[in-house]
Amino acid sequence: PKCEANYSPLSPVTFLTRCAKCYGNRISIIHEGIRFTWQQTYERCCRLASSIRSLNLAKNDVVSVLAPNIPAMYEMHFAVPMAGGVLNTINTRLDANNIATILLHSEAKVLFVDYEYVPKAKETLELLMGKKCHSSTPLLILIDDINSPTGLQFGELEYEQLVYNGDPTFVPEKIHDEWAPIALNYTSGTTSAPKGVVYSHRGAYLSTLSLILGWKMGTEPVYLWTLPMFHCNGWTFTWGVAARGGTNVCLRNISAYNIYKNISLHHVTHMCCAPIVFNIILEAKPSERIEIKSSVEILTGGAPPPPSLIEKIESLGFHVMHAYGSTEATGPALVCEWQQQWNQLPKVEQAQLKARQGISILTLEDVDVINVDTMESVPRDGKTMGEIVLRGSSIMKGYLKDPESTSKAFCDGWFHTGDVGVVHKDGYLEIKDRSKDVIISGGENISSVELESVLYKHPRVLEAAVVAMPHPRWGESPCAFVVLKKFEGNNKTNDVTEADIIGYCRKNMPPFMVPKLVKFVEDLPKTSTGKIKKFELRDKVKNTVSR
Ligand code: ADP
Repeated sequence: PKCEANYSPLSPVTFLTRCAKCYGNRISIIHEGIRFTWQQTYERCCRLASSIRSLNLAKNDVVSVLAPNIPAMYEMHFAVPMAGGVLNTINTRLDANNIATILLHSEAKVLFVDYEYVPKAKETLELLMGKKCHSSTPLLILIDDINSPTGLQFGELEYEQLVYNGDPTFVPEKIHDEWAPIALNYTSGTTSAPKGVVYSHRGAYLSTLSLILGWKMGTEPVYLWTLPMFHCNGWTFTWGVAARGGTNVCLRNISAYNIYKNISLHHVTHMCCAPIVFNIILEAKPSERIEIKSSVEILTGGAPPPPSLIEKIESLGFHVMHAYGSTEATGPALVCEWQQQWNQLPKVEQAQLKARQGISILTLEDVDVINVDTMESVPRDGKTMGEIVLRGSSIMKGYLKDPESTSKAFCDGWFHTGDVGVVHKDGYLEIKDRSKDVIISGGENISSVELESVLYKHPRVLEAAVVAMPHPRWGESPCAFVVLKKFEGNNKTNDVTEADIIGYCRKNMPPFMVPKLVKFVEDLPKTSTGKIKKFELRDKVKNTVSR
């Protein structure tokens, strides 16, 4: 079919071309003192693409970038594929060793580095040299701006120079095959070693459209970049904001004050974030808060948002939509699509409905929850647990250079998520756990997510994670790790006892679910994407004999 004269491959790069025509004079990017229009962004991307092209890259060579949410990071989402390359955005929280592994595995030809990450990049390069892989050291390009330290020396080339020297009339590389790769994203490795997930132009295009539609994002949104662009290309909103002619408000650092200030200053309408950011917003000091005057749409996901947090954040003027996905699914694959009839329900019930992961996005062919032994769908009873499986164009083609893991991840065309969920009567899915995190106590499956959402309702609990610990009689029993809220000016947190928490649980859940042990900690161990490392917590209690 690709030979047909009217075959037109789907690619999100076309969103930029259209946007420059339709919204040319509208502001595309705001970052500190910088303002660009869409016409300027288009021209800058053409210039950058032509310069990247002249670096002698072969088609589909990997171009990596280590940068926060700055304009350069945004522009590269268009310029790299326009130059025929594959964009690999690296999680800036990874250490030098992980970054070196990614650069080696992806055989990256170019590495763009923001000035803030130069020390980390230098450390990474030393490791690459140590691995005697000098020949595969990428070409280094520094991204600096007016705030970079004076006299900073790094790399062979400089970003703005590439833009300046480039050709504004550059004609983007023709995409002949929509299945060609556009991006390479490494999984965060919560449960196993990071793997390289390849996104196609087609998958990225369809996911972008699905999310815009699912979230009902109208034209000309003002989008605040609280979600790192290195997370699944900002859940595809890097391309999505251009598709809607929106304005990108870029944030180098996330803090409560930065969020409130930018929302107020630029009249932000949309933002994406993990539920953990709700805590940052909610726990802001009075001096950091600015009243939210018009409703801000939040798309949250990456981890289960406890209903009590949804309720609290909405009371401040935010409006939450919940999505579920993974790197392999090109970001969100399910959204908790709102039903008009839920408008009449009390806020507590609304938050509970929203905390469910929902139904498939528009372009996902199907989602199911199955019994992995029989491969049959579980009943729609909201109780029977099974594994969540996904199928459709936006699911990755496979892991880079890893056919074994790829065939393990797929079975009969379904991608196995490793997450355990239930299906409610209305067809909406709810995640109960990652399969490795389910606690099996006396043959009963206990969902750590359910237990945690009760703990989050406790007025003094800031964060909670529940894991399995060995139990002489029941096999496993739940152990809760709890971070308590600190009161300002008084760091005393030990006024809540284990007995208080256990007593609270007894009142709010069936007896078999009540944690047998509560451990108060200062922090919970997290992965580079902010997910709780439950395997580390399990390790801490693996030799503890449960009461
Ligand atoms: P990793 O599996 O290494 O953490 P990802 O960043 O791709 O890599 O994370 C995907 C996983 O995050 C999902 O499989 C699921 O366990 C969890 N997740 C994502 N969104 C949600 C959500 N809305 N609710 C519950 N869990 C979620």
